[in-house]
Amino acid sequence: MSKIILTGDRPTGRLHVGHYVGSLKERVKLQNSGEYDEIYIMIADAQALTDNAEHPEKVRQNIMNVALDYLACGIDPEKCHIFIQSMVPELTELTFYYMNLVTVSRVQRNPTVKAEIQQRNFEASIPVGFFCYPISQAADITAFRATTVPVGEDQMPMIEQCKEIVHKFNSVYGETLTDPEIVLPSNKSCLRLPGIDGKAKMSKSLGNCIYLSDEEDVVKKKVMSMFTDPNHLRVEDPGQVEGNPVFIYLDAFCKDEYFEEFWPEYKNLDELKAHYQRGGLGDVKVKKFLNKVLQAELAPIRARRKEWEQKLPEVFAILKEGSKAAEAKAAETLQDVKAAMRINYFDDADFLN
Ligand code: ATP
Ligand code: MG
Repeated sequence: MSKIILTGDRPTGRLHVGHYVGSLKERVKLQNSGEYDEIYIMIADAQALTDNAEHPEKVRQNIMNVALDYLACGIDPEKCHIFIQSMVPELTELTFYYMNLVTVSRVQRNPTVKAEIQQRNFEASIPVGFFCYPISQAADITAFRATTVPVGEDQMPMIEQCKEIVHKFNSVYGETLTDPEIVLPSNKSCLRLPGIDGKAKMSKSLGNCIYLSDEEDVVKKKVMSMFTDPNHLRVEDPGQVEGNPVFIYLDAFCKDEYFEEFWPEYKNLDELKAHYQRGGLGDVKVKKFLNKVLQAELAPIRARRKEWEQKLPEVFAILKEGSKAAEAKAAETLQDVKAAMRINYFDDADFLN
């Protein structure tokens, strides 16, 4: 069986460091492993419209932003098809058929959707499309016969939902769809990077992000303003590292070499944490170090993004090519799906009988 990757992001803003450690970095690693036969990376504009129906301009403008962020992080258009979701209308058709395989109460139970509904203050005015986006995501994954879906932890309920749809479809209509597996980042602190405000998740919609394209001074300002341990009032006080975003970011980004380079007083993160926990280490010093680490990680990404910004027509061509390849693949799957459901009337010699 071919090994196929499908993954993507909503074009609701530029991508942030949470995307990077939670999913992008893993994708680049998988891309370069040479183990995958096909890789599809989707800019999920149709999904972004489910909670931005009144702001299509925002979605439109962020398509190029997301594409640039991908290329900046090392997604290679020679190895991956980068495509725009709405340019593959087969996905919408699949969604419509899958909707009949899921109950309303099942969608209501999805913990990520529940949390997002709360976060967006939808209350009683939840758009039906938003409510159903896990089903459309199942269409995205299965259309490409994806075996592997590298995403952040918040996507786990979506993959579960997708697997249920696959099993249901295959049991009703016969073995047709491929069962996907989720790949989470191996570093636990990357599973769900918190925001600079200390909120549980860095998210475009919450405005608590460090963006991959933020300039050096912006990153510094954001790091220096970060939420830390609220009980660590004086330098002498013992500090807490668990749940402290500054240390979670260090867990996600810091390598031992950075101590040698920027802070040789400590050998590694464990030593630094021990000092903070003992007391006698101020937040400003730790934040200054975190800033240096982040700058070192982000500088090459920022530079590559600037290069691609000079070549927008090339980026446009990459998206167009990618969308064409994606559509061809999705059309094949849709044909199989319709054949399995026996709604392929004009291709079915038995139909007239
Ligand atoms: P929005 O607020 O518009 O939903 P988002 O910041 O949640 O934006 P998505 O486009 O929904 O970003 O997510 C894209 C991918 O990035 C998903 O695989 C998701 O799991 C991952 N991801 C997003 N935010 C984080 C985070 N803070 N930590 C780890 N992974 C993340
Ligand atoms: Mg999201």
